[in-house]
Amino acid sequence: MEKVSLLIKNAYLITMDKNRNIFQESGIAINDDKILAIGPTKDLEARFEGEKTIDAKDKFVFPGFVNTHSHLFQVLLKGLGRDKLLYDWLNSSVRRAIKNIDPEAAYYAALVGCIENIRSGCTTILDYQYCHGQLGIDDAVMKAFEDLGIRGILGRGHTKVSGFPPGCECEIDETEEMFFNDVERLAKKYADHPTIGVAISPAIVWDLSENGYYKVRELANQYKIPIAMHTVETEDDDEYCLKEHGMRLIPYLEKVGLLGPDYIAVHSVQMTPEDIDIFEKYDVKVSHNPVSNMILASGVAPVPEFLERGITVGLATDGAASNDTQDMMEVLKITALIHKLHTRNAAAISASQVLEMATLGGAKCVQMEEKIGSLEVGKQADLIIYNPKTAKSVPAADPVSTLVYSSGENNIETVVVAGKVLMENGSLTCIDEEEALDKLQEIAYKIREKSGLGNHQWGQKITVYPFSK
Ligand SMILES: [Zn+2]
Repeated sequence: MEKVSLLIKNAYLITMDKNRNIFQESGIAINDDKILAIGPTKDLEARFEGEKTIDAKDKFVFPGFVNTHSHLFQVLLKGLGRDKLLYDWLNSSVRRAIKNIDPEAAYYAALVGCIENIRSGCTTILDYQYCHGQLGIDDAVMKAFEDLGIRGILGRGHTKVSGFPPGCECEIDETEEMFFNDVERLAKKYADHPTIGVAISPAIVWDLSENGYYKVRELANQYKIPIAMHTVETEDDDEYCLKEHGMRLIPYLEKVGLLGPDYIAVHSVQMTPEDIDIFEKYDVKVSHNPVSNMILASGVAPVPEFLERGITVGLATDGAASNDTQDMMEVLKITALIHKLHTRNAAAISASQVLEMATLGGAKCVQMEEKIGSLEVGKQADLIIYNPKTAKSVPAADPVSTLVYSSGENNIETVVVAGKVLMENGSLTCIDEEEALDKLQEIAYKIREKSGLGNHQWGQKITVYPFSK
């Protein structure tokens, strides 16, 4: 008998491999971080002995989802600045708080944000980190990734805080040089890390000079890291670019050499036919954030057209300030619904396409399709065990439709990343979750007070205080 670290047996496996194989009464043998074998339970039991065995009888096993875009610090700002378009929303919530977010606050926000990602089936997250009002925030997010064991990619972002409105001034006004130096520091530090990576993420077109964009491309090539950038989330990008550079955003990005297979175009809502041609030409990847686009009334990205043209699309929550959760299960269902409604075509996006975007599409976006996105021998063991026995999901007719249309976080029972069980039967294995929630409620309350943020309902200001101990 061969010893393996983890044996999952009796599962209904949705592999997402090239042939989209689905196996019943099957298992996965995992050794350390990799999938060693997939096959009928009785064959695996005859060959392997697991140090740990999970019986997944009557449960579905899917590859873990890849959340291709978030801003974990925004978990602190959940529920604020509602009912506004992008620019007003930024100025009335996020930009007011950035100067008051310290590393401890960022750590708890990232921790709870990642917990919600895990609970909703994500095993990989790309956090687009542009909060730099104080030093040490990027490292705090990295610590949260490490403490939980989630696969994390930190998109080191940059925002020109000098453009913030009065009252939002930050102590640190990061220059482009400081930004690029820190990208290099992080890229070197995490170059060989098994589960943590780095991306380079200028926030939006007005945050960098033209030379800055050339430098972004240079560093992406040098360190082989993806570029992620907010791209035509609204019409603002094109308006700014036409005024400053005499051309719309996407032709401008082509001109400065930023586009390529490693470019993740976040949102891609206000696209023209020419923009779609350019994306196809450069094999640009798209991060689709339908919940955030609906909350900020930004528009509907032409995802059915992207898919028809062979453009890779991954799914994402976006930050909790414009979502207002990190619930990937919600994103799956809304992705299917928004395009049916928008095109008045009930077949615009199918459940199987949604699952492809959430897994394989996301893996391609973050340049990790060789390692994650499907359950195959030799790949990383990143998976979720889904229990369909809930009132929302029963009767389950097929695992894919059930997952996309009839599910919630409580269906996700167990989550494995790189062969390590991060959550088992609904309980996190490495973190005291209740303590993290209490701490976040307390810290977020203080930041709201300090930043002068709060909500009115029926004309009265109301708030929720720290939980009682
Ligand atoms: Zn964003």
